[in-house]
Amino acid sequence: AHLDRIDAVDTAVNAFLHVDVEGALEAARRADADRAAGTPASPLAGVPVAVKDVLTTSDMPTTCGSKMLEGWVPPYDATVTRRLREAGMVLLGKTNMDEFAMGSSTENSAYGPTRNPWDLDRIPGGSGGGSAAALAAFEAPLSIGTDTGGSIRQPGAVTGTVGVKPTYGGVSRYGLVAFSSSLDQAGPCARTVLDAALLHEVMAGSDPMDSTSIDAPVPPVVAAARDGAAGDLAGVRVGVVREFSGEGYQPGVQRAFDAAVQQLTALGAEVVEVSCPHFDYALGAYYLIAPSECSSNLARFDAMRYGLRIGDDGSRSAEEVMSLTRESGFGPEVKRRIMLGTYALSSGYYDAYYGQAQKVRTLITRDFGAAFEQVDVLVSPTTPTTAFPIGDRVDDPLAMYRADLCTIPSNLAGNAAMSLPCGLSDEDGLPVGLQIMAPPMADDRLYRVGAAYE
Ligand code: GLN
Repeated sequence: AHLDRIDAVDTAVNAFLHVDVEGALEAARRADADRAAGTPASPLAGVPVAVKDVLTTSDMPTTCGSKMLEGWVPPYDATVTRRLREAGMVLLGKTNMDEFAMGSSTENSAYGPTRNPWDLDRIPGGSGGGSAAALAAFEAPLSIGTDTGGSIRQPGAVTGTVGVKPTYGGVSRYGLVAFSSSLDQAGPCARTVLDAALLHEVMAGSDPMDSTSIDAPVPPVVAAARDGAAGDLAGVRVGVVREFSGEGYQPGVQRAFDAAVQQLTALGAEVVEVSCPHFDYALGAYYLIAPSECSSNLARFDAMRYGLRIGDDGSRSAEEVMSLTRESGFGPEVKRRIMLGTYALSSGYYDAYYGQAQKVRTLITRDFGAAFEQVDVLVSPTTPTTAFPIGDRVDDPLAMYRADLCTIPSNLAGNAAMSLPCGLSDEDGLPVGLQIMAPPMADDRLYRVGAAYE
């Protein structure tokens, strides 16, 4: 049914870069047989899932939305991919994304933009617009995203779906093509909080192949989602982040968010306002740290080891081939980040830019620490506006970057955060996202509060 749906709508939506019809049918038959024999691999055995094209898959191409990796089939599965297969899940294919996960609209994909199923002339968010649009268009019931600065949560918000960035280290990064290694984290995307919890449990957990993986049990996310579904938040303390409101926030987004806060109170939560003064500097710190790490990580695309190679006709040096390949293989946003990062890390500027950004990162982590002494979870709108029209921000990188104002602090601090639908804006009828944030390894709190609210 999902393959038929992809056939019917994906020409318009463009959520998928690759669909594995044969592989999916075979995995589905296997899961069926296991179920008939009474030995399903997991509660999600036989359930289809779409995977963002930044996680490696040994039987499908992994392009990261870039010409640089067109047609590249990795020699191994990411740990997340392997865990989905071991759970008996059916991999439908790979979803569209901003090139190397840099962007907030999926317009930076080398393979054309994904469109928002709510309004095909609007963006589905980014960088994981394909994973979110596939859910909103009913092409897949579950999908995998990755979130470096908001790329799971912001697409979730603007497509009316649920997206979770787990605690940094909670999900293995082995086989996740690196953009900014200290921020990147894969997580579940779904249409309900419980669905997200079921997927979270399958994909998370410690992994010796990732040295930043946390060696501790996965927080009890499924139990928390079931608990929360009873709708009782008595004794739960919720903090509204003061800094995430005011100028730049659409009134329709603000009103939907205020109504959500009222509902949390009605469910028994104790709601207070909390100030996190350094969150105002998060965007600036992120756009030094993420490009710095990207300039280093993307150095591996040297025309020798992976994918594209341009001009290798015997007349040019290795340097010339590398330079020609990087010039035509990378799109403008990726080049902008590599240049920014190279500049910020260069000797003489390192302390002024990268060093300062790391200090701000520490202050933001301390703001979270102080806030979580007062409250169990923090809430805010996920993103200041609803889905904007395709083309609206392509010439204004700063306007594009502001889509992630509210999501970036959780990446910098490494804590857990969720976006879930909180109704439609009364201005334009488009979905609004409610963001819930919890301390590291307290991912279960997101699911308890999210399921109660939902
Ligand atoms: N939009 C942010 C960026 O372009 C976040 C991307 C992400 O989370 N992968 O860096």
